[in-house]
Order: sequence, then structure tokens, then C-alpha cells
Amino acid sequence: MIESKLPNVGTTIFTRMSQLAAETGALNLSQGFPDFDGPAALREAVGRHIAAGHNQYAPMTGLPALREQVAAKIALCYGQTVSADSEITITPGATQAIFCAIQAVIRPGDEVIVFDPCYDSYEPSVELAGGRCVHVPLALPTFDIDWQRFSDALNPRTRMVILNSPHNPSGALISREALDRLAEFIRDRDIYLVSDEVYEHLVFDGQRHASVLAHAELYQRAFVVSSFGKTYHVTGWKTGYVVAPPALTAELRKVHQYVSFCGVTPLQWALADFMLEHPEHIAELPAFYQSKRDLFCDLLAGSRFRFTRAAGTYFQLVDYSEIRPDLDDLAMAEWLTREHGVAAIPVSVFYQAPPKDLRLVRFCFAKREETLGQAAEKLCAI
Ligand code: PMP
Ligand code: GLN
Repeated sequence: MIESKLPNVGTTIFTRMSQLAAETGALNLSQGFPDFDGPAALREAVGRHIAAGHNQYAPMTGLPALREQVAAKIALCYGQTVSADSEITITPGATQAIFCAIQAVIRPGDEVIVFDPCYDSYEPSVELAGGRCVHVPLALPTFDIDWQRFSDALNPRTRMVILNSPHNPSGALISREALDRLAEFIRDRDIYLVSDEVYEHLVFDGQRHASVLAHAELYQRAFVVSSFGKTYHVTGWKTGYVVAPPALTAELRKVHQYVSFCGVTPLQWALADFMLEHPEHIAELPAFYQSKRDLFCDLLAGSRFRFTRAAGTYFQLVDYSEIRPDLDDLAMAEWLTREHGVAAIPVSVFYQAPPKDLRLVRFCFAKREETLGQAAEKLCAI
């Protein structure tokens, strides 16, 4: 028998719920991915670059043209100048970027503070580095940081804090004031930051994303991670990037170089072309997803689910306590899928110790209007 290095890891909830949706023929609002395609010009560019022979290894750090586009976007969105050469690295997905950042700085015995509910890839990545996650629950119902609990968790072993804003699964946004507060807490400590900002462009109601890239003090110790998959509706391309100051980037690249060496070449060419030619794509993204959120929420207003509209991401949490208070959220997600034909993600799986009586499930609204309409019809009939 092999002694597992990750004894607590099984098949992810995303795989399980997507499988159950496929088996039962349910509408899949569980795993986060669009049921529509990315822009035609972007997809066509991949074929063009494959035909043009862009099929060998990309540079380890990423295609220069794509790193330049990312730098230009960061200047435009956050008013910050970062070096395409020494601060931006293209990776095969945000997951790999997060993994490499953690491996680059975490040593056995180090502690990493994560905020629950937290994305599922963080903890195994920390454990493989020999570290330990310390879970600090976000304050309900707003999913803000509970500073007392955060400060209680800090100690000389704390080596990293992982932030995620816009936040999966709640859709909550971190404020600039919260970043300032965090900076105060960790100012005199040897602590790094991973800021998972994969939903950076999915921010609604005229709010602005408070990026760690725009926080000069925090950025000095940060790895800021994003994903082209979310921004360009191509989650299956598994292409992302990480921005970090030169010294941190150098360490991250030492890991990335031996985890994958580089990202997929023709995808990087296509993304570089598309970003140059279609800067409006990012500008239009908030309104694009806000109208999906509003359609879904307007339709759900007639249901017995209770919710506050998501401030960001493409996820909507709903409280089902008026419908099946007897079911925990795992059972509820399964019941919704099997009996009502709409698959959802339970929220307790993102916790080390879920709050008692948590009655929340997550729906993904990155779907065509037709899908959202059909799902809402089923959900309103319950
Ligand atoms: N972080 C969060 C919060 C996510 O929701 C996702 C999406 N699956 C990722 C990271 C991973 O992104 P990617 O698919 O680019 O690896
Ligand atoms: N990030 C996606 C979600 O939250 C899932 C990605 C995956 O399946 N690993 O639904």
C-alpha cells in the first residue's frame, strides 16, 4: 500500500457534480464554465497560428507579445507599470500559477492563512510543499474578513496569506480598505501573499476591482494570479499568468520551469493577437456578465430561494432554507440535480469546518439566456 501524501483528497466536487449532471441529464449550473464559446476571432487565431507553424515550445516565461499585452492591460486597468520581462509569467492555467507560487516560498512547518470558504486547490498545494493551512472563516452573510480571527491566526510560523477576490463561491469583493488593513497586519512580518484574481474583470454594479497590483505595499510581497480562461470564455485552454516583483518572479520561474516549462504556444499567440485587436472585450465584460446575473436573479425572484445578488464572479449563491431546511447542502445539491434537473455546488465543501446549518448552494450563471431561463423555470417550480 502506498502511503498517500494527500490522504484527504478525493475527486473534486466540480467533477462529481458535472458527472452527476451528465448522468441525469440535468442542466449543469455546478462547475464554473460557460456553455457558450469564446470569441470567434480568438478561436480562429489559434487555427491560424497552428497553420503558421507556431507549434514548438514557447519561451519558458511566456510569449513576449502576450506578456506585453498583459502589461498594457495592467497599466490600463490598474494604472501600474510592471515589467513584461521580469514580473509577468504565462502559465498553463491559474491553478498551476498558484501551485508554483506556493512551492516557491513555502517550506515544511510554514503556515498559510486561507479564508473559508476557499477554493479547493490551495490546501493540497500547501500540503505538498510541507506547509499547513490555517483556515479563517469569512464573516457571514457578507463574506468579509473577520479581522479578529485573522489576527488570532497570525503567528511567527505564518508565511503566506491567500486572498481571492472576486471571491469563489460567494461573489464577494475585497475592498481597498481591507487591503490597507491587511498591509498593516503583515507590515513587519515575513509573509508572502498569493492574490487569486481570476475573476478580476467580473465585477458588477459599477464597482471597481481592488487589485493587489494597485496596492504598492502589498504588491512587494505578492504573487497576483489571473486566468485567460475566465476572461475570454475558454476555461479549457488552461492558460493564465502570474505577476510578481522581480525577485519573487525569479523564484516562481524556478518552479514553473520544472512543473511544465511553458504554456501552450498557439494559444499564447492567439491571445496576444486578440488582446491587441480587441481591447473592448475586457471593457464589455462586466456588463456582459451583469446582464446574465440580473436575468437569472430576476427570474429567481419568483422562487423560494433567497439571495443577495453577487457583486462579482459568475456565481450566485442562494439560500434554500425555506425549501428543504431538512437537507444539508450536499444532499440539497444532489436533490436539485436528480429531482429537479438543475445541478449546483454545495458551499460546505469549501470549508474546513462548515458553519452549522449552512443552507447555501452555488449556481454558475455563465450560461446562455436559454439555459438560464430553463434552469430558473425548474427552480421556480420547487
Ligand atoms: N482560482 C479560482 C478561485 C477559480 O475559481 C479557478 C477556476 N477554476 C481557478 C483559480 C483556476 O483557474 P484555471 O482554470 O485558469 O487554472
Ligand atoms: N473553478 C471552477 C469552479 O469553481 C472549477 C474548476 C475545476 O473544475 N477545477 O467551478
